[in-house]
Amino acid sequence: MKFGGTSVADLERIRHVADLVKGEVDAGHEVAVVVSAMAGETNKLVGWTRTLSPLHDAREYDVVVAAGEQITAGLTAVALGAIGVPARSWLGWQIPIETSAMHGSARIERIEPKLLRERLAQGQVAVIAGFQGIAPDHRISTLGRGGSDTSAVAVAAAIEADRCDIYTDVDGVYTTDPRIVSKAQRLQRVAFEEMLEMASLGAKVLQTRSVEIAMLYRVPVRVLSTFDAAAGGTLLCDEDAIVEKKPVTGIAYSRDEAKITLHRISDQPGIAASIFGPLADAGVNVDMIVQNVSADGKKTDLTFTVSRSELPRALDAIEKARDIIGYRDIISDDNVAKVSIIGIGMRAHPGVAQTMFRTLSEKGINIQVISTSEIKVSVLISEEYVELAVRALHSAYGLDAG
Ligand code: ADP
Ligand code: ASP
Ligand code: MG
Repeated sequence: MKFGGTSVADLERIRHVADLVKGEVDAGHEVAVVVSAMAGETNKLVGWTRTLSPLHDAREYDVVVAAGEQITAGLTAVALGAIGVPARSWLGWQIPIETSAMHGSARIERIEPKLLRERLAQGQVAVIAGFQGIAPDHRISTLGRGGSDTSAVAVAAAIEADRCDIYTDVDGVYTTDPRIVSKAQRLQRVAFEEMLEMASLGAKVLQTRSVEIAMLYRVPVRVLSTFDAAAGGTLLCDEDAIVEKKPVTGIAYSRDEAKITLHRISDQPGIAASIFGPLADAGVNVDMIVQNVSADGKKTDLTFTVSRSELPRALDAIEKARDIIGYRDIISDDNVAKVSIIGIGMRAHPGVAQTMFRTLSEKGINIQVISTSEIKVSVLISEEYVELAVRALHSAYGLDAG
């Protein structure tokens, strides 16, 4: 059972979480619980670190931001004890949850299930601090924002759990963020591949890596509401288990985008490597890329996107490599957002992208960058139009609730 930030936002809610856990224990199950930090805590901790230094050391960032989960793990164990359920809290390093060396966005590499299994078999609930692990340098690491989902699915895989229930503040995965489209509909089932795209394109209901792990280790994952545990929920499943394959199943958006344009770079072999090499070395992930054809065969412009939080790091890396790259000037814009349509049915339905472009043009929304894959189309637009774009596309693809 995994509980997100709003589910553990205060002591009353932590008591409610303890009651839900007790329900499963009373039903005869062995339960491992993964908790997030209280809502807003991680943002506060990230903010403090950035205020002191935008280019802070990622190892110290991890020490600070992992603290939120430590508090809720302890409090949840206390709340369980108070209602007579034996429980013990666990921090990442105590299990241990071993991760890669990439502080701030580490990947879980191995989880030792032995201790957890022993305690569970003794009838003790394990309350695990989500979002954190221990890196090869023996320092605390964190898994990137939303990482508690990944902790939960990875723990479920490691202990070979029968189920992994992700409790959150919505009662499942919807056709789009129900917070911005009131006509969004809950999906009873969603294919792993679609969920993977939806998550990586911004639907933060599940962290992308958690879906990858669920798919890889065949973990039965359900998304359900903490506040209405009896409500429907969504099951992650194989593509074959979905009978009706609509061209578009879901629409995702991400405001965590920034655009960088390099003007007048040489149009010659090696130029892309000279730009993206330093970015990779600085740990910056590049997402969309467009390079124009040069008019004169010599100079061209290149535009790419990075996550907004990585913009300072990206600009720093590019400016340091200025002599090697040789651009005239660099401009950045963080007033952009990405809107994506996703669906496994897209493979079989031509013309899906065209509906997207037409719908956006009818609303007067300019498309700055486009990228596609087999089951998604993404566009970069000005941030102010995100909600308008998502709502218009939701209607255009027939996803509005009746
Ligand atoms: P938690 O703290 O429980 O991990 P999150 O805030 O990380 O919760 O994720 C749940 C939120 O994800 C919902 O409140 C909702 O606004 C948002 N969300 C975005 N896209 C979707 C979607 N397609 N379906 C459901 N929720 C979505
Ligand atoms: N507390 C962390 C975050 O806000 C991890 C999580 O909630 O999943 O990103
Ligand atoms: Mg989350």
